[in-house]
Amino acid sequence: MTSSEINVSFEFFPPKNKESIVSLWKNIKRLEPLEPRFISVTYGAGGSTRENTHSLVKEIKRKTSLTPAAHLTCIGTSKSEIEKIAEDYWDSGIKHIVALRGDERQQDNNQIKDFKYATDLIKVLKKRFDFEITVSAYPEMHPDSKSMDQEYDVLKKKIDLGASKAITQFFFDIDCYFKFMDGALKRGINIPIIPGILPVTNCKRTLEFAKKMNCKMPKSLIEMFNGLDADPDTRKLVATTIVYDQCKKLLNGKVNDFHFYTLNRADLSFAICHILGIRTLGKDYKND
Ligand code: FAD
Repeated sequence: MTSSEINVSFEFFPPKNKESIVSLWKNIKRLEPLEPRFISVTYGAGGSTRENTHSLVKEIKRKTSLTPAAHLTCIGTSKSEIEKIAEDYWDSGIKHIVALRGDERQQDNNQIKDFKYATDLIKVLKKRFDFEITVSAYPEMHPDSKSMDQEYDVLKKKIDLGASKAITQFFFDIDCYFKFMDGALKRGINIPIIPGILPVTNCKRTLEFAKKMNCKMPKSLIEMFNGLDADPDTRKLVATTIVYDQCKKLLNGKVNDFHFYTLNRADLSFAICHILGIRTLGKDYKND
């Protein structure tokens, strides 16, 4: 496989303060010359960061050559609110939505119950606008699911409703991804299911999140970070090695699409893309 056949996309989250906005844009600009397929912006659990998602997505569209994809969650949101957001995106030229359920806020009895699943959101979005819809997929099973069969059935439903792509939850067990893909093919699921790649720089935090999300972290990987708590530079080098190894195994299995969870830092994703042969086509990076 040549580097020209490899497609990448990058995920960012909306910044909370002015300092992070400056840093975020520096990171977006760093990755822009790599010409990713799209760049996605996550949607916060509530309140002000949601507005930040809307404005960041529209700003990316206005100020860069990138194609933004807006994450949108539906749980606890009214149908009219979702319709308003959808209309605003469509009118602003944002045509790609990553449609998600999101997570319920605990013990909130007054929560609006217009939506139960991501499938409900896709129905509402597709009813009025022909958005490109990307959805989630869970090779190690979503914690709320009862079986892998349920996982595939839900993915099939999403495709029937108009989803054309899926991005996986991050994973470290490559065989698990390939097993998931085999299962999908056997069930006639043939949309692209892009592996979500998380460069781990903070092992402890990732481990906590991985446990919640049902994602196995191999002991060998955890051991690579032992003794590096106070050494972020070395952690980064270790992270690059791990991600490169992951990508190489995926490439060997004929995977040519990668979605990087950048955590708003471009350096690791940039380095991996460079190793994979994705270059900036003469637009050399100036560290200013
Ligand atoms: P769903 O696909 O709705 O599935 C949730 C559970 O319900 C599963 O167990 C599923 O099997 C079951 N289910 C789904 N549909 C049906 C149905 N029709 N009938 C019966 N059962 C059903 N969270 C955020 O808050 N903001 C983000 O920006 C964000 N981005 C993400 C991006 C990616 C690529 C991924 C993988 C996750 C992201 N998440 C985000 C996290 C996500 O919101 C949580 O994992 C959430 O718990 C599930 O959302 P979902 O869309 O996967 O849910």
